[in-house]
Amino acid sequence: MLTTQLFDQIDPEIRRILIKSLNSEELTPNDALKLLKVSGKEFLALQQIADYSCQQKKENIVTFVINRNINFSNICSRGCKFCSFSVPKGSKDGFLLDIEEIKKKIMEAKENHCTEVCIQGGINPDLTYDYYLDILKAAKEIDPEIHVHAFSPQEIYNASNLSGNSIKEVLRDFKNAGLDSIPGTAAEILVDDIRKIICPNKISTNQWIEIITQAHEMGIPTTCTIMYGHVEDLKDRVEHLEILRTIQKNTRGFTEFVALPFIKENPILSKSKEHPLKPSYGMADLKLFAVARLFFKDLIDNIQCSWVKLGIKFAQISLYYGVNDFSGTLMEENISRSAGATHGQYLPPDEIIYIIKAAGKRPAQRDTLYNILKYY
Ligand code: SF4
Repeated sequence: MLTTQLFDQIDPEIRRILIKSLNSEELTPNDALKLLKVSGKEFLALQQIADYSCQQKKENIVTFVINRNINFSNICSRGCKFCSFSVPKGSKDGFLLDIEEIKKKIMEAKENHCTEVCIQGGINPDLTYDYYLDILKAAKEIDPEIHVHAFSPQEIYNASNLSGNSIKEVLRDFKNAGLDSIPGTAAEILVDDIRKIICPNKISTNQWIEIITQAHEMGIPTTCTIMYGHVEDLKDRVEHLEILRTIQKNTRGFTEFVALPFIKENPILSKSKEHPLKPSYGMADLKLFAVARLFFKDLIDNIQCSWVKLGIKFAQISLYYGVNDFSGTLMEENISRSAGATHGQYLPPDEIIYIIKAAGKRPAQRDTLYNILKYY
């Protein structure tokens, strides 16, 4: 069906919103909410406009990064109810890597041509401020060129508590030690009523905003994420998107938006009778990608899918719903796997290239800051 024919047949209100987007007008949160609820022909129309917007910005290019995840400890005191990766201190399954073990992993990353190491871990009570600094120094010692993407806002907050330094001082010390950018994780859903249910011991929405904004102001870019499909409503998702958009208007520090569906297989949250899950299935995932593309418009250029969480086949489909980045090779993915994801821990570059080409797109290897390193 041709786009014009499709457009003639859809709900006039949805048509109005999509035309607004085509005219480069900013969508309101209410517009986004309406788009997140569409189905049928309106869903197809949303897909077409999101794909068109993506093509206009990125042509037919889909990027990926060659990177390695390093999780230095799974021991954590925060007890988030959606988390299956962490264990409490004293657990027989707990681990804490020493600096030599971390160095070995960074060395392996270098040998495998990784341009980025992504380093995160639990809030282990045995950590010290120097341990965080030593990780950063070790990475740069092994490869001064490697991009160190490390420590969520929750970890930055923990480092501040451990040292008594302000957030700004921590970020300054970390930057001097080798930190290049920060993962915008620990965001989950930036609505405190939801955070009280899923992660009551984590930093608040305002604390997350303050740490991220501070990082951006100091020239440290971050990604931004959403973890969705648990107990939140669509309006919570929109509130979250609006917070991210407002930050980006002020700082322009986000490099990408990553939508992370909640993996419901293992976590405590899945067994909660008090807060029943509202899981997200295929079309809801695709609508979120498409709406993010239109809602962030010229503010956040890069929308990333997570093949680990979505599965490779579905991640490939998402490339037609506003997604222009296939994320990374990862090498050692632990967090989603612990939650029950079964899509693997590593995708070699050749396979990512194949998947992207098979979708009719042009693959390109990028660095963390979205500079293109090589076209395929
Ligand atoms: S999500 Fe992070 S902070 Fe929360 S329990 Fe898991 S490792 Fe700890």
